[in-house]
Amino acid sequence: MAIHEKALIEDERLQQHDELVVDGVDVSGHWNTMIAPRTVRDYDDDFETKIQSFAGGENVHRCWQCGSCTNSCTMYAQNVQFNPRYWIYLTRLGMKEELVKDKDIIWQCVSCNKCTNICPKDVKPEGVMKALAHWMEEEGITEKAPSTIFDEEFADQIYKTGRIEDSKVMQNFFKKTGQPLVQEWMKIFIFRMMKHLPVKHLMAMGINTVHTPRTKSWGKTGDVLKNYVREQKEAAHG
Ligand code: SF4
Ligand code: SF4
Repeated sequence: MAIHEKALIEDERLQQHDELVVDGVDVSGHWNTMIAPRTVRDYDDDFETKIQSFAGGENVHRCWQCGSCTNSCTMYAQNVQFNPRYWIYLTRLGMKEELVKDKDIIWQCVSCNKCTNICPKDVKPEGVMKALAHWMEEEGITEKAPSTIFDEEFADQIYKTGRIEDSKVMQNFFKKTGQPLVQEWMKIFIFRMMKHLPVKHLMAMGINTVHTPRTKSWGKTGDVLKNYVREQKEAAHG
């Protein structure tokens, strides 16, 4: 019999025999694949609570493993290794090491939310995928995602000046992600903008890219905000 989700079992634990006789009965053929038993010791009792502390992971404890999320998943249809049900199972067992083995694909969730719509227990599997990806980022298991770099740049500008200068956010984002500062789509965007915005406004935007003025009376507000965000993060994730 074919083993369901065989791809999830480590190669070294799959034992295949050309011929297999058990208790005098020839069970060669479809029955010739066995899985070596494994004693689980590398689990973390607090891991489920940890993932619940990330936005989206709150309901992970509700999962009853029906598999509907995986069955409906856009990414699973492309790659059977992408398996939300399995990762939710590992999260509930606290098997971090097993999860980390899939660090290169967990982030590939495209947020289509088919899983969330079909889940009978309101687990919000899409949110759990995001929570797992953020946990890996925070632990340094994976590199920062471009979206995280963008968020940080956005917040940094508010802390420093109390305002957002779009062109400066983009410029710094491109620098930090190693992208060219001038891109084709940007030329078209700027050209169209120039056609519709007053010259005075465009000049102000250009100057602000080099020197962003601070919001009046901003004072230490940025530092206070920054400390508050840090404290909230520490309170949620430890
Ligand atoms: S659909 Fe919901 S309950 Fe079913 S396995 Fe997925 S997360 Fe768990
Ligand atoms: S949101 Fe992510 S996990 Fe859910 S179905 Fe879409 S790709 Fe799959």
